[in-house]
Amino acid sequence: MKTRIGGADVDLKSHARVVVIGGGVVGCSVLYHLTKLGWTDVVLIERSELTSGSTWHAAGGFHTLNADTNMAALQGYTIRLYKELEEISGQACGLHHVGGLTLADSPERLDFLKAERAKHRYMGLETEIVGPEEIRKLSPITDTDGVLAALYDPLDGHLDPYGTTHAYARAARRNGAEIHLHTKVESLAAKAKGEWDVVTDKGTITAGHVVNAAGLWAREVGRMAGVELPLHPMEHQYLITDDIPEVYEHHTELPHVMDPTGESYLRQEGRGLVIGFYEQDCTPWATGGTSWDFGHELLPNDLDRVGESLEFAFRRYPVLARAGIKQIINGPFTFAPDGNPLVGPVPGLRNYWSACAVMAGFSQGGGVGLSLAEWMVEGEPSRDIFAMDVARFGDYCTRPYTREKVRENYQRRFAISYPNEELPAGRPLYTTPAYGIWKAQRAVFGSGYGLEHVNYFAPEGEPLFETPTFRRSNAFAAVAEECRAVREAVGINEVHNFGKYEVTGPGAEDWLNRIMANRMPREGKLVLSPMLSPAGRIIGDFTIARLGPERFQLVAAYAAQAHHMRWFQQHMPDSGVAVRNVSLDRLGLQIAGPNARKLLERVADIDVSKEAFPFLSVREMNIGMVPAIVSRVTFSGDLGYEIFTPAAFQAALYETLAEAGRDLGLKPFGMRAMMSLRLEKSFGAWLREFKPEYTPAETGLERFVSFQKEDFIGREAAQRERDNPPARQLTTFVVDADDADVWGDEPIYRDGKIVGYVTSGGYAHYVRKSVALGFVPREMVEDGAGFEIEILGDLRPATLTTVPLYDPDGTRMRG
Ligand SMILES: Cc1cc2nc3c(=O)[nH]c(=O)nc-3n(C[C@H](O)[C@H](O)[C@H](O)COP(=O)(O)OP(=O)(O)OC[C@H]3O[C@@H](n4cnc5c(N)ncnc54)[C@H](O)[C@@H]3O)c2cc1C
Repeated sequence: MKTRIGGADVDLKSHARVVVIGGGVVGCSVLYHLTKLGWTDVVLIERSELTSGSTWHAAGGFHTLNADTNMAALQGYTIRLYKELEEISGQACGLHHVGGLTLADSPERLDFLKAERAKHRYMGLETEIVGPEEIRKLSPITDTDGVLAALYDPLDGHLDPYGTTHAYARAARRNGAEIHLHTKVESLAAKAKGEWDVVTDKGTITAGHVVNAAGLWAREVGRMAGVELPLHPMEHQYLITDDIPEVYEHHTELPHVMDPTGESYLRQEGRGLVIGFYEQDCTPWATGGTSWDFGHELLPNDLDRVGESLEFAFRRYPVLARAGIKQIINGPFTFAPDGNPLVGPVPGLRNYWSACAVMAGFSQGGGVGLSLAEWMVEGEPSRDIFAMDVARFGDYCTRPYTREKVRENYQRRFAISYPNEELPAGRPLYTTPAYGIWKAQRAVFGSGYGLEHVNYFAPEGEPLFETPTFRRSNAFAAVAEECRAVREAVGINEVHNFGKYEVTGPGAEDWLNRIMANRMPREGKLVLSPMLSPAGRIIGDFTIARLGPERFQLVAAYAAQAHHMRWFQQHMPDSGVAVRNVSLDRLGLQIAGPNARKLLERVADIDVSKEAFPFLSVREMNIGMVPAIVSRVTFSGDLGYEIFTPAAFQAALYETLAEAGRDLGLKPFGMRAMMSLRLEKSFGAWLREFKPEYTPAETGLERFVSFQKEDFIGREAAQRERDNPPARQLTTFVVDADDADVWGDEPIYRDGKIVGYVTSGGYAHYVRKSVALGFVPREMVEDGAGFEIEILGDLRPATLTTVPLYDPDGTRMRG
């Protein structure tokens, strides 16, 4: 059957390299970027006209601000792209680069903006903090009563959503892409060799790859392939006012103003204003699924929902109270649980890609299109995009959980994101058998990848809640005490933050030697190994134990499970290897500290002396009556053991250790203490020091790369860096801090110039020092060298140290 392309009736092709489903701003951007990177046999299928989902009624605002620095960089890319797009396509995007102000009316919010500003400094973004007078000068319609300052971003602006989507589409067509309108994808069928039959109401196309860019219908298009994508649509309202003299008589177009306390954003629209709200009383839309009949339509207005925000806005912008409302727009758009897009290969499927949940299509659409196209064409994106990787979520995202998290995220759109904050919605979800044991000991919990973990134990009389703050929190003294117990006696904690995999089969060793950078150990031994992408970037940081000739246990970050399983599946040989994710079946406790061996000796049924069970080895044994796999290693950097057992035995394992450790000073400790202890050893952590942005040579992981092995993924790239060391290097600093430590992303200065940035840090309680880990130019890495690190707007002196602050020669760790 014929479909319409650019005014002509044509048949659908029978084959295409890629079929993109959805002609909103995101689908069109993906299409354009695929052609830009050289894939021109690409087809976009749109059930109606272009922009028929969320795109047509968007307010069209764009900005670079994002809590994740890589997301912010991609937003910067999107905004800079528009000029180029206009030139290539000949289609205007209706750009208005007017700048934007984000107001702060409390010291906490000012801290937040200062922390954001600090990040922008090393990212090269020209944002600045401005005072009330400057705010009034830039935006005279803003009443600055109670406002302390604002963050000004000159890159903020707005555009015409229709024009911009068509500019992408035109540019893609010029490069050879086809766009079929009024063609609905009705089903998808996976074919044996990884291709897809894309069945439409106008015929079937066989596609090498399918991209789900179906926006409001992304859930339905996911289900066509048997997956439930973690996203949900929310209703969103904005108002357009009648003409306002103070607006149209102003000598320049007014800047955007974000007023977080009022949960609103405001901008000029022609001779009037647009104001939109992220209200607390928000409404998830189409909870049962998006109807195929939903068309180019708006939802009924509900001004009651935004009544409070509107009243606040009348005080902040008095001209609004006098203006008539020309139009109210209420439309739906989709969010993932954390508000960032879902991009990349969907785990468990071949050649099925996600470009969904893009809640800010005009800030992020270009970056999403570029990253996805790079991933498809070149095998991996050119920068770390873990913050929007569809595999950052897992099976724990049930539909109701996703909805709760999406609602929470919407409500928090303008909330301050504190680095130590734990968000409450959808919790507890996953818990281990030890949950009740910790709870009875006054545990304060956090959550990651759906699983509850202990952050610290609150002493009697203290609240069971850590106050969110940029400064040292109410957990400070309790965490110090937990660290002391580990370093001076023995601590016990649950290694909830580990994903675990069992790899078995006659081909297991060869396969692991191919996908891991280190050589596989002998039976009974452990190795640490990075897993590298072809470009030599760190996509995993594993501890690998060999339990038998054909049996290995892999341990890595818990939150990277879908990411790692996707990689394993993508590189799985046809036979000879089986990988099982045992993260929730095999649970762990660790004991660490000078008395750890004494404790293990009391309960183990094998010889665990230093000689029989040395550092970096693994043994299977019974602990009391509990069968366990015990690794002689700990992230705390002390003498210690990680003990894994089937989930049903976990509580008995704890009781056995607790009973035996009573007179050895055994104390439970949480993740806050763990992260403090690892700082004293300069140990990096996943997604902080080790992530797809960095390489082994930059981060010191090179010592775990076996260059004697002839072939492994990433070898060539790692070898290149070995021959030509990279410009930057990860190192440790002792910071002369006040009541606030670094968290990550703070700029590092030398002689008044920014030379690097912090990856993570905090207070190292046992050595009583404020510590930062971060990157600086390799030639500056010199023990004792002086730097400055910006913490909440203050430049704090920082001294570089090339040796760990605790147990520098590893005597205790290996002891
Ligand atoms: C009121 C409101 C204001 C907003 N303001 C802004 C703003 O100021 N700035 C900003 O950046 N963002 C804003 N947004 C969000 C923005 O609209 C979205 O980020 C963006 O539109 C998402 O685009 P998309 O291409 O992913 O999805 P959509 O626009 O929903 O496009 C999906 C397309 O896929 C098509 N499709 C679906 N299923 C099929 C199928 N089976 N076969 C064929 N075609 C199919 C649909 O017809 C649709 O055209 C706003 C949203 C709303 C609701």
